[in-house]
Amino acid sequence: MRIVIVGGVAAGMSAATRAKRQNPEAEVVVFERGEYISYGACGLPYVIGGEVEGFDKLIARTPERMRGEGVGVRLRHEVIGVDSKAQTLTVRENGGATHTEPYDRLLLATGVSPVRPDWASPAWASTGASGVHVLRDIPDGQAIEASLKGAKRAIIVGGGYIGLELAEALRSRGLSVVLLERGPGVAGRILDLGYQRQVRHELEKNGVDVRCGVTVESLTAKNGRVTGVQTSSGLLRCDLVMVAVGVRPNVALAQAAGARLGKTGAVRVNNRQQTNVEHVYAAGDNTESVQRVTRRKVHVPLGLTANRMGRVAGINMAGGEAQFPGIVGSGIFKTFGLGVARTGLTQHEADALGLDAVSVDVESTDHAGYYFDAAPIYVRLTAERGTGRLLGAQILGHPGSVKRIDVIAALLHSRGKVHDLAEVDLSYAPPFSSVWDVLLVAAGQAS
Ligand code: FAD
Repeated sequence: MRIVIVGGVAAGMSAATRAKRQNPEAEVVVFERGEYISYGACGLPYVIGGEVEGFDKLIARTPERMRGEGVGVRLRHEVIGVDSKAQTLTVRENGGATHTEPYDRLLLATGVSPVRPDWASPAWASTGASGVHVLRDIPDGQAIEASLKGAKRAIIVGGGYIGLELAEALRSRGLSVVLLERGPGVAGRILDLGYQRQVRHELEKNGVDVRCGVTVESLTAKNGRVTGVQTSSGLLRCDLVMVAVGVRPNVALAQAAGARLGKTGAVRVNNRQQTNVEHVYAAGDNTESVQRVTRRKVHVPLGLTANRMGRVAGINMAGGEAQFPGIVGSGIFKTFGLGVARTGLTQHEADALGLDAVSVDVESTDHAGYYFDAAPIYVRLTAERGTGRLLGAQILGHPGSVKRIDVIAALLHSRGKVHDLAEVDLSYAPPFSSVWDVLLVAAGQAS
């Protein structure tokens, strides 16, 4: 049994280690086109910001360690073709010669690529201007690090969570930062409008110049270095541009294999991570999953999801039996002193799906008000009118306090109701929460 995995980060390496554990006799080989495997891309903004000392700290397992565990790793090997009838791959080594590799089971764990909008391409492609970056992997981080030398003014394009994490990182490196967002608010795909305003306030409080409703038209460059961004409201000077306007699933290989894509544009799989093509599996950021609250297929590229899908694929490819139960849409990040968490649906998302949803908003303190350091915490709980079925929640507060979103995530997994939340025996002591935790208060108000 030869199990071949394309892509050596979260989904790919989870699959490789699980497959080997499931079937120690199987040959497991990972092809990775880059220089690194098994690293935490989620930590990249914190290396740039200086909280984490060096990109190497993000590497969980080296190729040598994987080989020691019986998993073959081929770095700088790009898979450029699949013949799913012959069960072979075409592999290009170090950008040069190609050869053919057979497989019995194939996992496509090829991730996503950052969107590079048209306005950015000429600066990259024709002028070759430096100082224009995306952030996806360790080499991107190293390139940003090199561009930071002597840089004073940064423009971040895109107000999603990566843009916001970068805003903090670049401010802590002493740069002035302008954040451009074409929508009406930052974190627009994560939070409802009122909460978006609070995130914006946190950025502005920390010296980030946030400009919403602004579109980028082109970049200007001089002597091979970016000098500015031409926007719908004028030219802004800068010496560093971070483009964080979203990602696209890497599906070319899946399509070459004959695998179907879903409406989201990501690879469609069943709950065993199998595509429609025999012996071809997909997992991670390139793959759709089922949103358990709506039972719809969604594309939510996040780290734990990639690891969970990879594990399921690894077990199944090696002859075991595992199923991926889907996601509920949980996400968490911080920007400066503000933690931001969400799970399930926002009110806005529920409305767009035609659900009869209602939200309650509660402001409290994250632990007993009389205990030192008590900080404000804001919870928005969204439920279905009439049935009381929980649909989602959003929490803003001190970064240490917003992880209580996981209580709601657990209830969403079991299609819990507001009443179930109100009845949960949550832990309590003054340094951690109020006796009636803000979640219980929200549930009480929503009941
Ligand atoms: P990837 O990590 O993209 O790995 C895919 C690999 O496949 C790549 O190494 C690529 O080189 C390789 N590959 C692609 N095509 C080929 C080919 N043809 N041949 C050979 N190799 C190929 N998620 C969270 O949950 N929380 C966070 O806080 C968070 N923060 C993030 C911050 C940043 C800056 C970034 C970039 C991501 C963050 N994420 C976060 C997302 C998380 O990192 C991803 O969900 C996770 O890395 C996905 O893993 P993956 O294995 O599916 O894909």
